Amino acid sequence: MAWLFRLGERGARKSADVEAFFENLVRQLPDPTWVKDLDGRYLYCNPAFEQHFGITAEQAIGCADADLFPSGFATALGEQTAAVLGEGGESRRDQRLEGAEGGESRWFEISCALLCDERGRRFALLGSARDVTERRRAAEAAWDTETRFHALFEQVEAISVQGYDRNRRVIYWNPASEVLYGYRPAEALGVKLEDLIIPEALRHYVISAVDSWVHGAPVPPAGEMTLRRADGSPAHVFSSHVMLRGPDGEPQMYCVDIDLSERKAAEEHIRKLSLAIEQSPESIAITDPDGTIEYVNEAFVHNSGYAREALIGANPRILQSGRTPRSVYRDLWATLARGEVWRGEFVNRRQDGSEYIEMAVIAPIRQPDGRITHYVAVKEDVTEKKRIAEELERYRDHLEELVAARTRQLSEARERAEEASRAKSAFLANMSHEIRSPMNAILGLTYLLGREMATPQQRATLAKIKGAANHLLSIINDILDVSKIEAGKLTLENHDFAIAELFNQVEALVQAQAAAKGLALDCKAEGLPAVLHGDSTRLRQALLNYLGNAIKFTHEGRILLRAEVLETRGRRLLIRFAVTDTGIGIESADLKQLFQPFTQVDNSATRRYSGSGLGLAITRRLALMMGGQTGVESVPGKGSTFWFTAWLGQAENQDLVELGMPCEEADAAARLSEQHRGARILLVEDNLVNQEVAAEILKDVGLEVDVANNGREAVTMARRVHYDLVLMDLQMPEMDGLEATRRLRRLPGWEERPIIAMTANAYDDDRRRCEAAGMNGHVSKPVDPQTLYATLLDWLSRTMTRTPSTPAPSGVVHGGAERREEKVATGDVLERLAQLGHVDLSFALRSLHGKREVYTRLVGMYAEHHREDLARLRQALQSGDRDQARRLAHALSGVAGTLGFVELQRLCRTLDVALRDETEIEILEVSLARAEVLQGQLLAAIVAAPERG
Ligand code: ADP
Repeated sequence: MAWLFRLGERGARKSADVEAFFENLVRQLPDPTWVKDLDGRYLYCNPAFEQHFGITAEQAIGCADADLFPSGFATALGEQTAAVLGEGGESRRDQRLEGAEGGESRWFEISCALLCDERGRRFALLGSARDVTERRRAAEAAWDTETRFHALFEQVEAISVQGYDRNRRVIYWNPASEVLYGYRPAEALGVKLEDLIIPEALRHYVISAVDSWVHGAPVPPAGEMTLRRADGSPAHVFSSHVMLRGPDGEPQMYCVDIDLSERKAAEEHIRKLSLAIEQSPESIAITDPDGTIEYVNEAFVHNSGYAREALIGANPRILQSGRTPRSVYRDLWATLARGEVWRGEFVNRRQDGSEYIEMAVIAPIRQPDGRITHYVAVKEDVTEKKRIAEELERYRDHLEELVAARTRQLSEARERAEEASRAKSAFLANMSHEIRSPMNAILGLTYLLGREMATPQQRATLAKIKGAANHLLSIINDILDVSKIEAGKLTLENHDFAIAELFNQVEALVQAQAAAKGLALDCKAEGLPAVLHGDSTRLRQALLNYLGNAIKFTHEGRILLRAEVLETRGRRLLIRFAVTDTGIGIESADLKQLFQPFTQVDNSATRRYSGSGLGLAITRRLALMMGGQTGVESVPGKGSTFWFTAWLGQAENQDLVELGMPCEEADAAARLSEQHRGARILLVEDNLVNQEVAAEILKDVGLEVDVANNGREAVTMARRVHYDLVLMDLQMPEMDGLEATRRLRRLPGWEERPIIAMTANAYDDDRRRCEAAGMNGHVSKPVDPQTLYATLLDWLSRTMTRTPSTPAPSGVVHGGAERREEKVATGDVLERLAQLGHVDLSFALRSLHGKREVYTRLVGMYAEHHREDLARLRQALQSGDRDQARRLAHALSGVAGTLGFVELQRLCRTLDVALRDETEIEILEVSLARAEVLQGQLLAAIVAAPERG
C-alpha cells in the first residue's frame, strides 16, 4: 500500500509503520474493498474482492468497472462514483449483481467515499461492498406475509375470513365477512362464534367440534353449510378451517367462507329449467349443427316410441314417414342457415309404424360470440287437434244437411213411437174384448145353469166355478187398469157420494172373507163431511185393494178402516184413508219395492198367498191421480197400516145423495118385470153364446127379445118392427155397433129410442165414441144381470109411455109422484120408526132429497114386497138352498140400507156373507132370529096405521 501513501504524500507524510498497519487492516476486511483513482480506474483490491467477485487484483488494477462487471452492476457503480465526485461525501446503495452463466445473483450494499489529503485535496475513491442477499430475502419474505396477505384478506370481496380464539371469540373479521354476514368488524370482534352466525340447530355441534379441535382432534372437513346472517336470513357457504398458533403459542382458528347463495339460486334456476324441459308435454330435442341428436326429453321418447339410447346420436330423419313434402325440409334448412327460427308441420312415423302430425318450432342456439352451436326443436303432437278441426270443418259444411237428417230421423222415431202407442192401445182394447167375451159366456152360463141345478152339491160346485171366474175377471180387470193408467187412458169421474154409504159397501163386500177367517172388521168414516165429490168407484177400488190384502195377510185379530181430514183448502179436502191389520207385517227392507207393479214380498214358487202383485200399484196410481200419495208402516209379525191420501171435494149440497146402487139393483129385476113386462128389446150381438145368455136374462124378467147378428141386420129389423130399446154390441162383422147406431138414429121415430152399448172394454174414449154415435148408455161385458136390469129399468122408465098391465108398485124415484098408490101417514110412520132406535132416518131422508112422502111411500112398498123375505130365507135354508137364501139376504140388506134400517141391514149383510162362506146354519140362526125380531118391529111401525087411499 506504499503507493497509496505516496499518493497521499502530496498532502502529508506518514510513517511506514502506519502504512503497514492500514494495509494489513484492509487486507483482512471480510467485505470486498477497493480504491480507484478519480478517473474510476482500480488502484487496489483486497482479497475479499477476489473472493466475492471472482476478480483478481492483477485483473482489476488499471481497469474500469465496465471492464470488470456485468453492465447493470457496472453502470450502478459508475453512477455512484459520479454522484460522490459531484456532491462530495459518501454514498451507500443496494445493487444486484447477476450471477455469471445462470449462477445465483446476489445483492450488495455498496459504499463509496472520497479520499482526501491533509489539505483536503481529493486524490482517490474508497469503495466497499457488503453481501446483503440474505437480509434482502428475509425482508422480502416479511413483506409477503405482512403486506400481501393482509391486503389480500382486506380487499378480496367474495371470501369471508374470520379468526377466532380458543374460546371461539372473534379476533379477526374481514370486510367480506361484513358483506356476507352483515356484522361490522366492531360488532363482531369479541363476540362468540355461536352467538354470531351459527343457527340454533348447529350450536352444540359447532361448540363441541371447535373444542375437540382445539384439544387436538383433526380439522373439521371443509364443506357446504347454511349459517345465519345478522338479519336472520340463511347464508349458504362453502367453509374451510385452519388452526394457527399465535405469537403467544395459543391456537387461533380461521374460517374461510365462500358465499354460495347466488350459485345455489342459479343452480335452482337451472334445475327448474331442466325439469320444465324434461317434463314438458311437448317433445324437445337438441342437436348439434349437423343435426345429430344430443338431448331428447321424456315426451320425445314417449311420442316417438324410440328408446332414448336409440335417439341420442341419431339424426331426426329417423322419424320421417316420407309423407312430409320435400319442400318443407328445404325451407327448414334454409331458414336455419339464415340463423332464423323455423315453424312448420311434419308428418312423422313412430317406431311402431303409426303416423302422427307434429307442429314444430326449431331455433338455433347461439353462443355469446355469435357462433351457432346447437339447434333446439320443440314439437307438439297435433294429430287429434287436426282431426277434430277437420271434423268441425266437415260439420260446419254439412250442418244443414245434418240438421235435416236428424229432424227426419226424429220425426220418423216419433211416428214409430206414436204407431207403437196406437198399437198398444188397440192391443189392450182387443185383449179386453177377447178375454171378456169368453168370461161373459162363462159367467152368464153359470148364472143360467144355477137356476136349473137341483142338488145343493151341484150348486156348491157352480158357486165355486163362479167364484173362480170372478177371481179371474178381477185379475184381468187389474191388469187392464194398470195398462189403462200407464197409457194415460184412465180418467176420473166426479159426482157426489155419501162416504158412509161407500164404507158400508166396501165393508159388505169384504165382510164375508173377514168373518170366514174369524177377523173383526171395523170401517168408520167419522169426522168427514157426509157427502163428498169425486170418483167413488175408484175410491172404492183403492179401499178394497187395501182391505183385501189386510184380510189375506192376517190370520187373527182385527182389520180397521179409518179416514180423517188432513187439510182443507176451500171446498177441497185432503183425506187420509188407512187400513190397519194385525197380520204378518212386512220387513222394512221389502217396504221400498211395494207399490211397484208385479211386486210381492214372497216371490218364491211355494208362496202361501195368491195374488197378482198389482193391487198396490193400482192403488198408488189412483191416489196419485187424486192428488194424493200412498204409504205403509209395518212391524213384522205385528201388522201393517197401509194408507193413501186423496184430494176430494166437499159436495155443495150435503143432503143430495144418490140411492145406493146395491139396493136399487136388488129389486130392479122385480120392478122390471112388474113395470115393463112385454117390452120389446132388440139384442144385436154376433156371438151365439152371448146371444143366448143375454136373451135368457132378458126373457127371465118377461121382456120380448129379438136377436140381430150384426149391425146391418139390426137396421133392417128396426125398419120393420117397433123396439122399445136396443142392446148393441160394438165389434161385429159387416156393420159395427157405432155405424148401426148412426143409421138407426136417422130412421123416423128413432131419435130418442134408447140404444145401450154392450162394451167389453170400459175405456172412456170408447164410451165417448158411443155417445158421439148417438148411444144413450152402456153396460159392460160380461153382463151382470143385476146391472143390466137396473140399466134397462132406468131407460125403459124414462122413455116408455106404456103403463104395464099389472099395477106397478113403483118406488122408483124417476117414476114421479103420480104413481103413488099407497098413502101412509107420513108423520106417524117416521116418528114410530125413529122411536125404534135402529133406524137412521136422517140418512134415508138425505138420500131422498128430504122428500118425506116419497120415503113414506117407499117404506110402504117395503112392507108390501119384503114382508115375507126373512120367512122365505128361513125356508130356503131349511131346504138347503143357500144361494136363494143368500140372494134374499143380499137383496134385503140393500133395500134396508136405502131406507136407513141400519141394524137390519147389518144383520142381513152378515147373513149374506156367512151364507156365501158355507158357515154352519146354527151360527146363522143367531143373526136370523135377531133380524126377524127387527123385521117384526119395522113392519109393525110401518103398517100400524096405514091410511090406504
Ligand atoms: P197381491 O195381488 O200380491 O196381493 P198387491 O200389490 O196388492 O198384490 O200386494 C203386493 C204385496 O205386498 C203382497 O204380495 C204382499 O207381499 C204385500 N202386502 C200387501 N198388503 C199387505 C199386508 N196388509 N200385510 C202384509 N203384506 C202385504
